[in-house]
Amino acid sequence: MNILLVEDEPTVARFIQKGLSEHNFDVVYAPDGKKGLDHALSGEFDVIILDRMLPHIDGLEVLQNFREQGIDTPTLILSAKNKVDDKVKGLRAGADDYLTKPFAFEELLARIEILASRVSTKAGGSTEMNLGKLKLDLINRKVTREEQVIDLQSKEFKLLEYLMQNANKIVTRTMLLEKVWEYNFDPQTNVIDVHISRLRNKIDKGFAYPMIETIRGAGYMISSREQ
Ligand code: CA
Repeated sequence: MNILLVEDEPTVARFIQKGLSEHNFDVVYAPDGKKGLDHALSGEFDVIILDRMLPHIDGLEVLQNFREQGIDTPTLILSAKNKVDDKVKGLRAGADDYLTKPFAFEELLARIEILASRVSTKAGGSTEMNLGKLKLDLINRKVTREEQVIDLQSKEFKLLEYLMQNANKIVTRTMLLEKVWEYNFDPQTNVIDVHISRLRNKIDKGFAYPMIETIRGAGYMISSREQ
């Protein structure tokens, strides 16, 4: 498995690199935002570990930049900033996970393995999901509605995939936290609202009717009015 590590503090970088190598990961190391972005844009990595504060280009900017260019590599942000607001900013910029410094290596490892397994499960699957005129191609990670291609970030894709697995059923916030975010606690943030709203902008806006409904006090449901 290939991991890109973007981190400017040499001691932290060495600590992570050493631990990952011991677990047989191949690590490419970038000491600043500019080099990190160049590597990320190659699209050759299974997971990216991205420090938040970096020389040349800030970590969030690096993330936004490669997401805008269609790179959906699962990305974990590492940061000394531990306020909820900072985490939300990271998730909004397109991060899949967020870990605050200082951290235990075992926790970093577990999070990386979870991010990486999402990719390999999808690669090993063979299906396409359909709901009315909405199509999800799990292999190519491509989404279309009425034949129009919709670009989703990796978390939005995962959210849509889970909603579609449960089409015409109410999905609660707890289910989303557990299945999409793999949290077994409520992080007390608006992370779900942010992602649902982004997903709606992409799959519902400009189409004949919205497919994602808010079920007040219960959760969300995706359904189709087409036969
Ligand atoms: Ca730093």
